[in-house]
Amino acid sequence: MSEFNLIAKYFTRNTKHTDLSVGDDAALIRVAQGRQLAISADMLVAGTHFFHDAPAYSIGWKSLAVNVSDMAAMGALPKWATLAIALPEVNETWLAEFSKGFFACAQAFDIDLIGGDTTKGPLTLSIQIMGEVPTGKAIQRNGAQIGDDVWVSGLIGSAALGLAHLQGKIALTEPTLSYCINALNAPTPRVALGLALRGIANSCIDISDGLTADLSHILKASNLGAKLSLENINCDDYLRTHLNDNNIQQCILAGGDDYELLFTAPKLQRDCIHQLSSQLQLPLSLIGETTPQLDLIITHCQKILNITKKGFDHFG
Ligand code: ADP
Ligand code: MG
Repeated sequence: MSEFNLIAKYFTRNTKHTDLSVGDDAALIRVAQGRQLAISADMLVAGTHFFHDAPAYSIGWKSLAVNVSDMAAMGALPKWATLAIALPEVNETWLAEFSKGFFACAQAFDIDLIGGDTTKGPLTLSIQIMGEVPTGKAIQRNGAQIGDDVWVSGLIGSAALGLAHLQGKIALTEPTLSYCINALNAPTPRVALGLALRGIANSCIDISDGLTADLSHILKASNLGAKLSLENINCDDYLRTHLNDNNIQQCILAGGDDYELLFTAPKLQRDCIHQLSSQLQLPLSLIGETTPQLDLIITHCQKILNITKKGFDHFG
């Protein structure tokens, strides 16, 4: 199969918001007046971000989903993506499944694949995503204020627990096993939440490297500290019942791959955020508050935890 047949068969689909898509030297898109273009890229490397034998469908879904999650964190509406892919060989069974997973995510979030690049090499996926946000309304990391509530969406730690199982560090049983593997392979980016938080949240980030590490980015950008309590972080039953275990605490605080939104908001937004939680049918937990002192303090049963590992760092 030639490179061009491969692109036509696996990476060319109808588009909805695009003037010129796959097939020319560049794609053409139009950004509506009064909107800014939000742009982000994420690369996934086999052996680093996923196992070589991970299901191709979930690699496809997740490679786009992690990018969509960055749009959610900015309060942007994702619309367009490009896909640069290096493949060690043309394996049509793999490509068909990968493409199915990728376009399932694209369809779920109404995103056009508008171009990319295809080369031979160690399995690597580099995706750029673009979305729209009304000018000046994006939720940045540097907007947190002293005394803001700190909130997190969804259940934290499940993906890291699933990974620990696949690495043989823990032996999970059903139903926790399926729940955690699904959290690892098929994260749901919180786009509706991100859009709804415009004008409510002062700052926002998506949790990819670990709750503590990602919160630290907000705190550094906003020149603040925070106090959190571990028991207020919403998590799966298995994690909740093992909350005294140091490894489980690490999963929740430093595991990463959650793709939930971590955000700060003024206390007067509490009712509004609780309402949002029931509207979206998504748990939103109030886990702490920001402080003028620059440290991040995490307590469990009133005792201060000693956090040794904050999150994932490729070079750390
Ligand atoms: P060029 O030689 O100009 O770089 P290519 O031959 O690499 O163009 O690609 C041909 C067309 O297919 C371009 O429009 C490019 O954006 C698109 N394309 C290439 N690879 C992919 C891919 N993996 N997914 C989507 N579109 C792709
Ligand atoms: Mg090219």
